[in-house]
Amino acid sequence: MSSDLILRNGIALMGEELREKPFGSLVVRQGVITEVTAEQVPADGTPEVELRGAFVLPGLIDCHVHFDLAAHAAPFLHWDRAPFVRSITCFHNGLLALRAGITSVRDLGSVDRMTLDYAGQVNSGELLGPRVVAAGRPITMTGGHCADYGRIANGADDVRLAVREQLAAGAGVVKLMATGGISSPGNPGLPQLGISELAAGIEEAHKAGVLVAAHAHAPQGITNAIAAGVDTIEHAAFAEDDNYKQMIDAGVTLVPTVTALNPIAPGLGIPAATVEKSLKARETYRANTAKAIAAGVRIAAGTDAGTAFNPIGGLLDELMMYVDRGMTATEALRAATVTAGTLVRRAGEDAPVGVLAVGARADLLVAERDPRKGLEVLRRPVGVVVGGRSVDLGWVERTLAEVTPVLVEPPA
Ligand SMILES: [Zn+2]
Repeated sequence: MSSDLILRNGIALMGEELREKPFGSLVVRQGVITEVTAEQVPADGTPEVELRGAFVLPGLIDCHVHFDLAAHAAPFLHWDRAPFVRSITCFHNGLLALRAGITSVRDLGSVDRMTLDYAGQVNSGELLGPRVVAAGRPITMTGGHCADYGRIANGADDVRLAVREQLAAGAGVVKLMATGGISSPGNPGLPQLGISELAAGIEEAHKAGVLVAAHAHAPQGITNAIAAGVDTIEHAAFAEDDNYKQMIDAGVTLVPTVTALNPIAPGLGIPAATVEKSLKARETYRANTAKAIAAGVRIAAGTDAGTAFNPIGGLLDELMMYVDRGMTATEALRAATVTAGTLVRRAGEDAPVGVLAVGARADLLVAERDPRKGLEVLRRPVGVVVGGRSVDLGWVERTLAEVTPVLVEPPA
């Protein structure tokens, strides 16, 4: 498949500041942006797309997804389904992502190596989908968050071994559980893996040049993860002001996933304990996300997509929530592009991701109007480029319609 492309006559949102630059030609060679110029470079047989003044920005990045889940009411039961169904789920989710202009995702945990295998296929260009950086199995203590599905590890040596297993299987990020969760049994406020366990796992990952994400909802677990040297905190629903200061001082990025709780309601078949915990947490979670934004915490966008009624592609709603809670539209776009891009680099990959610049990977989104003046225009991207390949969005739509019937909800 071709990864050369020329885009004609658009307006690029360039660099870390998303500065506007009208262009005559945006040239992509072997998946990398080589030129953004006012000139009309001569046609040379390279595929071309005429943009008629549309805006081009970096493709969006969802920093927290579960690509082999299907957003069912009891989402984790999908991990008990046949490998065939789960592999189709990954393919389907990849198309949902592309349709929404999402060109990279960070998969933060599966029951086995399914999403690692999917990542291998799409990252090598053999299968159409977004770039994927996957964690393999999340690492959790006995009785901890996702213990039914994760790699259970107890004590520093065991966590070290568990991390080595994920890295050996091809993980591009490591996921550690530092507190309980909302979608699993137990109290999300309690710390789980301790500092010495987290530090051992983080040391192993960092030795391999791999970043570490900690699932952490509440103050003690967040403090532990940051003290242990983690790179990102996921969720932080019950964080306190001190935690935001810790994040800023340590240069830790927060991935809020605050919209994951929006669809949770009684009467939808969602387990009662999850409904109860979600409804109790929701307002605090939203208010705390606003506090994190106001405090100046570095935020990258993520959705926890795959969980109940939270399908892949809802990233725009998460960005709009950030805008409702204090970000400008440009800041929200940066959370899903430039900032997120620093979290999804893979070891050995040279071209920057999440930024429109000469030398960066050509993952692009085309919008009819300037998204800095209103994010809603991103609801229906008019063009998507992944690794220099212009995606046929009509084909994506038709294929989604064919594949969706495979993903029916399993009986509870
Ligand atoms: Zn998650």
